[in-house]
Amino acid sequence: MLMPIPGTFVERIKRTETIESFRFRFESRPDFSPGQSLRVLFDTQNLNNRDLNKILSFSSGPQAPYIEVTKRLSQSVFSDQLKRLKNNDTVFFQGPYGRCVFKDEYQKIGFLIGGIGITPVISILEHIVFKNFLVDVCLLYVNRNEHEIAFKEELRRLSRGRNWQVCLTVDDFPPQAPGIRFGRIDGELVAKVMPDARERVIFSFGPPAMVNAMKCLCLNLGCRPENLKTEIFVGYPETG
Ligand SMILES: Cc1cc2nc3c(=O)[nH]c(=O)nc-3n(C[C@H](O)[C@H](O)[C@H](O)COP(=O)(O)OP(=O)(O)OC[C@H]3O[C@@H](n4cnc5c(N)ncnc54)[C@H](O)[C@@H]3O)c2cc1C
Repeated sequence: MLMPIPGTFVERIKRTETIESFRFRFESRPDFSPGQSLRVLFDTQNLNNRDLNKILSFSSGPQAPYIEVTKRLSQSVFSDQLKRLKNNDTVFFQGPYGRCVFKDEYQKIGFLIGGIGITPVISILEHIVFKNFLVDVCLLYVNRNEHEIAFKEELRRLSRGRNWQVCLTVDDFPPQAPGIRFGRIDGELVAKVMPDARERVIFSFGPPAMVNAMKCLCLNLGCRPENLKTEIFVGYPETG
């Protein structure tokens, strides 16, 4: 069991109507790899309390002076605790967790991401930009509608001046904004936007149905199983 470590809440950032990021500072900041997650503890007396202690991915790079997590806020008691945070509140964390991480030797990567699964992608991209790595990145990111696209500005900022492909798509309503596709991520879209999928290390984060569908899709396209890195966000509502 990893010892809980305290962090100080310093900032919240609204990403969409329902998604917010929370930033914390640490006296001794835990090390982590981009793609990993940590457990936010609102009940340190009972670490098994699954309602108040939940896993969230890092949505900041390992080199940032703060640690950021991002949550799709719901009616849950855990979400209530996040909503109530005030500057300088102390929150405890455990971690890091997860083996679905970016390794510095990767040269061509792809992301097949749905909704809140974007959080570890931001951590990975911030790491690549901080290190100035020449990584070839292709991101396919689906949301229900254009108002739910979290980190749109950050994706624009991170990819500026880089030859990355960022394909945003929505599958509920045709989008009004230019540059956003309409439709799900399916074999046809991946073959079109990421024709070299077989040469890439592919990451997929998110709810089980989405991640499992992306895994099947990649295998059908001939990707090697060892090049697929997936992390299922257990406990995340399937419709979210
Ligand atoms: C590795 C990992 C990374 C994650 N990263 C993020 C992230 O960056 N951002 C984010 O918003 N969420 C992330 N999640 C999901 C997060 O931990 C929460 O489960 C999710 O946000 C829902 O919490 P809630 O309090 O809003 O929902 P709740 O209303 O408490 O639960 C939503 C639904 O999930 C069910 N459920 C709750 N807990 C579990 C469980 N342990 N196992 C199975 N079903 C359960 C409930 O019955 C309910 O139907 C991650 C999960 C994992 C495992």
